[in-house]
Amino acid sequence: MNLKDFFIGMSQNQFLNTTAKKYGLKLGAQSVVAGTNIQDMIQSVKELNNNGISATIDNLGEFVLEESEALKAKNQILEVIEAIHTNNADAHISLKPTQLGLDIDYEFCKQNLKEIVSKAKEYDIFINFDMEDYGHLKPSFDLIDELSVDYDNIGTVIQAYFYESVKNIEKYKDYRLRIVKGAYKEPESVAFQDKKDIDQNFLKLIEYHLLSGKFTSIATHDHRVINHVKEFVKENNIPLDKFEFQMLYGFRKDMQLDLAKEGYNFCTYVPFGDDWYGYYMRRLAERPQNINLVVKQVFNKKTNTVLGVAAGAFVLGRLTKKKK
Ligand SMILES: Cc1cc2nc3c(=O)[nH]c(=O)nc-3n(C[C@H](O)[C@H](O)[C@H](O)COP(=O)(O)OP(=O)(O)OC[C@H]3O[C@@H](n4cnc5c(N)ncnc54)[C@H](O)[C@@H]3O)c2cc1C
Repeated sequence: MNLKDFFIGMSQNQFLNTTAKKYGLKLGAQSVVAGTNIQDMIQSVKELNNNGISATIDNLGEFVLEESEALKAKNQILEVIEAIHTNNADAHISLKPTQLGLDIDYEFCKQNLKEIVSKAKEYDIFINFDMEDYGHLKPSFDLIDELSVDYDNIGTVIQAYFYESVKNIEKYKDYRLRIVKGAYKEPESVAFQDKKDIDQNFLKLIEYHLLSGKFTSIATHDHRVINHVKEFVKENNIPLDKFEFQMLYGFRKDMQLDLAKEGYNFCTYVPFGDDWYGYYMRRLAERPQNINLVVKQVFNKKTNTVLGVAAGAFVLGRLTKKKK
């Protein structure tokens, strides 16, 4: 097992997931999660806005199996929409269908999403449907298709590691789209495994959507991709208001500020809430160098919790093994 697989495995560990909620932000997560409540999150969003950066807000949570939990998530997202409006924040919403009940019942999930999209529409707020693992791809697109009949404030994500991403970007070319490499562990039967293939497809999808004239969010921390896009838009006279760069909160902060200062639209993905664990483990899977955040926190006396010790031992164990 490599470190990527290890952290993806950790992200799906129910015990650690539940335990993490009880202990608040730990293990370095506080540097990449904007607090556990709406007030703290809005403050972070306002700070970004003051630096010319907009935000897409993610009320953390996914793979919910209880109706009560999905309804709670829906109400929290409705509160976030209200908070964006009252605070006049430059922000929109990113949500995950599995947090709103996709694994419980499709119609139940659709109803929850409809309430959210409809409330957001009142305030002219955009809703991005994040894309999750392959098993949820089709039902998520189905939800978008159905809700798009009545609402135009919806967009979604195309994950470049899927073979079918080319077909999907053609189908959804009239939507505002975020294009990413893809964050979940997927089998060879559905997704490219080789980084080079993923990167190549990523550029192809970005170029396709930029040329389509619809708004494109290029979501990556990869400076090579960003530099490529800068050249591509110049060569193809693509106006600055037709695209933006996106990065996750807490990552490459200097580059985020620099891109905004250079005049590019920049949007930071701002996750908040107590359900931070799965999100954080996926970030460690993407870039094991982020482990230094964990190691620093594990040796911080305040994090001497069940979670800290368990995760720290796992992580350090893997590192030691790797050195051998
Ligand atoms: C805003 C946003 C939204 C997303 N939404 C989704 C979604 O809905 N569904 C989904 O599956 N995935 C989503 N992702 C995750 C995405 O799919 C990738 O897993 C993730 O972004 C890692 O890929 P990357 O393009 O950033 O670059 P990587 O392939 O991780 O890195 C490429 C290179 O960039 C450099 N680099 C990367 N990170 C850093 C850093 N922190 N510091 C210094 N150098 C660095 C390194 O040189 C590295 O080798 C999202 C990502 C972002 C940024």
